[in-house]
Amino acid sequence: MKSVPVLIAGGGPVGMTLANVLAHFGIRSMLVEKNATTTRHPKMDITNSRSMELFRRFGLSEALRNVAVREDHPFDVSWITSLAGYELHRFRYLAPSEFRKQIRIKNDGTQPLEPPMRVSQVEIEPVLKKSIDARGGTGARRRTLHDPLSIDRARSAAALGRCLALSIADWNDDRSERR
Ligand SMILES: Cc1cc2nc3c(=O)[nH]c(=O)nc-3n(C[C@H](O)[C@H](O)[C@H](O)COP(=O)(O)OP(=O)(O)OC[C@H]3O[C@@H](n4cnc5c(N)ncnc54)[C@H](O)[C@@H]3O)c2cc1C
Repeated sequence: MKSVPVLIAGGGPVGMTLANVLAHFGIRSMLVEKNATTTRHPKMDITNSRSMELFRRFGLSEALRNVAVREDHPFDVSWITSLAGYELHRFRYLAPSEFRKQIRIKNDGTQPLEPPMRVSQVEIEPVLKKSIDARGGTGARRRTLHDPLSIDRARSAAALGRCLALSIADWNDDRSERR
């Protein structure tokens, strides 16, 4: 039987960011995720400046930018009739390198600390997971729950405001988490 002060249900970007933030402040948590691997669905595209500021604060922005689209690529969105057709309309968005120049030039307090980042959730999740694994000593844990009933029991305990004391069969099974 293990006790943790915080149970995080779901290891998507939000759950894994929360686990990292809690670990940063020395708060132990257990993150439970129903899938054995990080997502393979190509969702998420732009991570905006405020999220990047958060990642910067917790030491994650550089590792995330290393897997992102290159900084000199513009983030324009273009509507075209076909690849060989013509452009109907374009939203213009600065490349991060241009955005950084703007931040430097317009030093009047209105600019964010970080430009946005373009990267798929498929790339983001392994970086966040690796960071959780690396912070293992501070108590952040990511575990796969194969038994949905365990999740239901955890939910009930949380809803009742009980201190979470979960008996998780695969608590010590690190192998199920390796990709
Ligand atoms: C096509 C598409 C494009 C998108 N583009 C963008 C974009 O450009 N920019 C942007 O910011 N956002 C974008 N989004 C939205 C973005 O993907 C979501 O905002 C983001 O995934 C939310 O993160 P999350 O961690 O809250 O949820 P999720 O990513 O959905 O993660 C939830 C996790 O919880 C797990 N889970 C669910 N139920 C349980 C349970 N009972 N027990 C244990 N684990 C459980 C799931 O397996 C999953 O891993 C896009 C989404 C889609 C589908």
